[in-house]
Amino acid sequence: MIVIMDTKASDAQVADVVHRLTEAGCLVRRSGMERIILGVSGAGFEPAPALVEGLAGIADVSTTEDGCHLVSRNFSPKNSEIELGQGVTIGGRELVVIAGPCSVKDQDTLYRIAEAVARIGARILRGGAYKPRTSPYSFQGVGEEGLYLLRAAADAHQLLVVSEVMEPSQIHLAAHYCDILQVGARNMQNFPLLRELGRARRPVLLKRGPAATIDELLAAAEYLAACGNVDILLCERGIRTFETATRNTMDLNAVPALNARTHLPVVVDPSHGTGWKNYVTPMARAAVAAGADAVMVEVDVDPDTALSDGAQTLDVEQFARLMDQLRRVAEAVDRTLR
Ligand code: PEP
Ligand code: MN
Repeated sequence: MIVIMDTKASDAQVADVVHRLTEAGCLVRRSGMERIILGVSGAGFEPAPALVEGLAGIADVSTTEDGCHLVSRNFSPKNSEIELGQGVTIGGRELVVIAGPCSVKDQDTLYRIAEAVARIGARILRGGAYKPRTSPYSFQGVGEEGLYLLRAAADAHQLLVVSEVMEPSQIHLAAHYCDILQVGARNMQNFPLLRELGRARRPVLLKRGPAATIDELLAAAEYLAACGNVDILLCERGIRTFETATRNTMDLNAVPALNARTHLPVVVDPSHGTGWKNYVTPMARAAVAAGADAVMVEVDVDPDTALSDGAQTLDVEQFARLMDQLRRVAEAVDRTLR
């Protein structure tokens, strides 16, 4: 439920409304500039307008049909800027690039990748330590050792770290090493994981499920927000369609559609979106042109020896060319790129 306060509402009237709602077990978040907007969520229930009936200072009360309040544009007409640390913000004017291997392999390789992507302009190092693999016989990731290596490699080059968590029991450890916790596409609707991440004090990169609609992606984000975590980055990484010429079909419609529906920043991942290194750069350019706030790409010093997703992984030279091109596209759409 969204409660819009009157422009002339007094502090006491706002406090009254907030008090009534929190007494009823609701979580209340404030937004708005000229007028105060209250985003109201209940744990396991939809707050009803009757809760604030008769209270003074209220201009409008609405419930949305799709169950998304806190992540919707109605709650915050202004874009959210997610501050990630070390002066890196996603959702502002600066376009942010996230780069690194699909999965962490060993210390030497990871350090060389971190050095290269930092030098070329990435701000965030990616890498999977826990890997969600389609087959149980595929490489499953190096686990905690990978998180430790990511942190050390990132710190050596002033980068932030994003890595995936697959289950609630991994959150505490991953939050110790990572600046951003990733929810993989296969886990977008893992509700116990989303709830637990909602209570964690780390920004979340939420990937769109391969068969999820934009409404479902937003509803998954609402789980995080309703549990208390509004530092959310939404990620388009391709969806499954009848097309087999590419690994996935990268849905760039999602960028303007999400920008219309939510105040949250949008990240695009053309590596998983296309599945093929030759298609990554053109689709990254298109993503920036469409209005993405960040781009995430898989990069390795030697993609041929990558333990997963080598076919869609750029080498350092290709990454440098991608960044050159993105700088030009960024300028054309009034954004900056380091
Ligand atoms: C990844 O980013 O390494 C990954 C596994 O991506 P997705 O969940 O989008 O398949
Ligand atoms: Mn991958």
